[in-house]
Amino acid sequence: LPKYKIVVLGASGVGKSALAIQMNHQCFVEEHDPTIQDSYWKEVALDNSGYILNVLDTAGQDIYRDLRDQCLAAGDGVLGVFALDDPSSLDQLQQIWSTWSLQQKQRLPLVLVGNKCDLVTAAGEAQTDAAILTHKWGAPFIKTSAKTRQGVEEAFALLVHEIQRA
Ligand code: GDP
Ligand code: MG
Repeated sequence: LPKYKIVVLGASGVGKSALAIQMNHQCFVEEHDPTIQDSYWKEVALDNSGYILNVLDTAGQDIYRDLRDQCLAAGDGVLGVFALDDPSSLDQLQQIWSTWSLQQKQRLPLVLVGNKCDLVTAAGEAQTDAAILTHKWGAPFIKTSAKTRQGVEEAFALLVHEIQRA
C-alpha cells in the first residue's frame, strides 16, 4: 500500500494532538502533554484504495523548531492547524509555515484546518473566514472538531488528494 507521512503543524493548544488521536484512536483527549512529539500508523480506505498514513504530531512551541523541521523535511504533506476560537493561532500558523516553506525549493502539499468548530459562534466564524482571505494560502480549507470528530477524516482525505495531485 502507498504510505504517506502527514505532519500535523500549528501553534500550541490548537488541538494537533487531539486531532491525531481522534483520527487514529477514535477518541477525544482533554489533556495531552504539549511537548510530546508522537507518530501514529493508520491504514485508511479512500476512493476504494487502501493507504497507510504515518501521522506525525509535532510540538507547537518555538523551542521545538529543530524537531519540527526534521518532521517537515521527511513529510509528504501538512495539516496546518489553527483554532477557530483563537484568531491569533492563524497568525502563528502562518508564521510557522512561511518560515519553513520559504527555505524550501519545493512546496509541500498543505490543507488548512480550522479546529474546534464545536466552540465557535457565527460571528467568530465570519471573522476567521475573512482572516483566511488576507493570506494567500493556496490550499484547501476545512473546519474540524477533534471533540465531535466532525471533518476529521475528511481533513486527512483532502490532504491525501492534495499529495496525489502534487
Ligand atoms: P496541541 O497543543 O495543538 O497538541 O493541542 P491539544 O490537542 O493538546 O489540545 C489543547 C486543548 O484543546 C485540550 O484541552 C483539548 O482537549 C482541547 N481541544 C482540542 N481540540 C478540540 C476541539 O475540536 N474542540 C474542543 N472543544 N476542544 C478541543
Ligand atoms: Mg500536542
